[in-house]
Amino acid sequence: MDLTRLSAAALSEKLTAGEVTSVEVTQAHLDRIDAVEGAVHAFLHVSDDVALATAADVDARRAAGQSLHPLAGVPIAVKDVVVTEGMPTTAGSKILEGWVPPYDATLVERLKAAGLPILGKTNMDEFAMGSSTEHSAYGNTHNPWDLERIPGGSGGGSAAAVAAFEAPLAIGTDTGGSIRQPGAVTGTVGVKPTYGSVSRYGLIAMASSLDQAGPVTRTVLDSALLHELIGGHDARDSTSIDEPLPALVDAARQGALGDLTGVRVGVVTELSGDGYQAGVSARFAESLELLEKAGATLVEVSCPNFRYALGAYYLIMPSEASSNLAKFDGMRFGLRVEPTDGPVTAERVMSATRGAGFGDEVKRRIILGTYALSAGYYDAYYGSAQKVRTLIQRDFDAAFTQADVLVSPTAPTTAFKLGEKLDDPLAMYLNDIATIPANLAGVPGISVPNGLSDDGLPVGFQILAPAKADDRLYRVGAALEAALENVWGAPLLAQAPELEIAR
Ligand code: GLN
Repeated sequence: MDLTRLSAAALSEKLTAGEVTSVEVTQAHLDRIDAVEGAVHAFLHVSDDVALATAADVDARRAAGQSLHPLAGVPIAVKDVVVTEGMPTTAGSKILEGWVPPYDATLVERLKAAGLPILGKTNMDEFAMGSSTEHSAYGNTHNPWDLERIPGGSGGGSAAAVAAFEAPLAIGTDTGGSIRQPGAVTGTVGVKPTYGSVSRYGLIAMASSLDQAGPVTRTVLDSALLHELIGGHDARDSTSIDEPLPALVDAARQGALGDLTGVRVGVVTELSGDGYQAGVSARFAESLELLEKAGATLVEVSCPNFRYALGAYYLIMPSEASSNLAKFDGMRFGLRVEPTDGPVTAERVMSATRGAGFGDEVKRRIILGTYALSAGYYDAYYGSAQKVRTLIQRDFDAAFTQADVLVSPTAPTTAFKLGEKLDDPLAMYLNDIATIPANLAGVPGISVPNGLSDDGLPVGFQILAPAKADDRLYRVGAALEAALENVWGAPLLAQAPELEIAR
């Protein structure tokens, strides 16, 4: 039995039944990492010793009869934007090269307390800015479906690790789509929880009013299990929701039974049609039919202000990023570059460090954000974008009176070739046309793999729910997943090409 092919839920059952040990499961994943990382490059750091030590500890506790979390002993990969005590954390940037955080993010604390061995830190676009992971300062990650193609971004490393069976579970972060879009293009499940439902304490902030961490997995149930573990109130995050999470795992299990009677599914007019690849649209239409067969009612809903979402996002996000990134000054963390020509003043160290430490995309966004926030332009740009944000929230409110969930394709196209959009920032930004509205409104979203496009590459189906109703994502997502697997006879990833064993 190849332990790397099992879902986290299946591994949990085997661990609980004593059929396998966490050391065996963890070692199997480390061996797989060893075998395929040369081709995929999903990881920036692999922590063999730490992962195996956690695994051995969990095995000992289980042998001693302690009661453990259901995911205890199931290994996980963590996006490198999440701080991990004693484990290098770079956010994909040169400016943080060599930085080892002195504390754990709240979600990492929760993973550790539950006994999940951390396999390592995954590659990403620098500071989570991008849709292809090509903006990483540490090289490209390759899509396991086609190594010449991007794995999505910014969390391409987490998605590729899960798709390549290097990890059964991973953590991503989603500011404008960075969990869901990589999920869509790698055939994995990705969830952006309700804003405030997973603590942001210990995430290296890009845009604080949009950032949210969430699960990257191969099944909807696995996402629910992980979401319940990392979610819930945290006093160290002032935007954390002080209420219990809805019952996510129960919702996923109920959904898997396949009955969606009484569920109104709203198809958003503005999030499909023109600009979406033919195969993406075809798979979307087939998935809608499956939901209808499961008993759901389809309704067409219009969210007219969604067409301004991308524009508003690319003012609000850079504005917040320009403020959040001001702390990287060559004094406090990571890289420090001193000018070689002339006096070493604080200002000149900052300038030399940022010049050498930040990549082009990060510089572009800092400049954009600083401009949008400047006294003379604040009202025209940042102020207007915030008004658009309110209009988008109102569109969601109106749509959710007509439908229980909203749906669309997750991304307009399948994975493009490495390098194809690197010199065209606007083309890169368009990948998130369907995912960004959810971040602006704080509502939750999931991407469920729903087939292969005409080019043989995976596509994703996005489900959005009202804030704090994340359980609906899991109910509808699990129902769709079950219906699709009935059609395919196997999970989609079983169709992915075998990766050549490269070292
Ligand atoms: N691709 C989007 C961007 O570049 C979203 C990034 C994200 O969600 N972190 O901003």
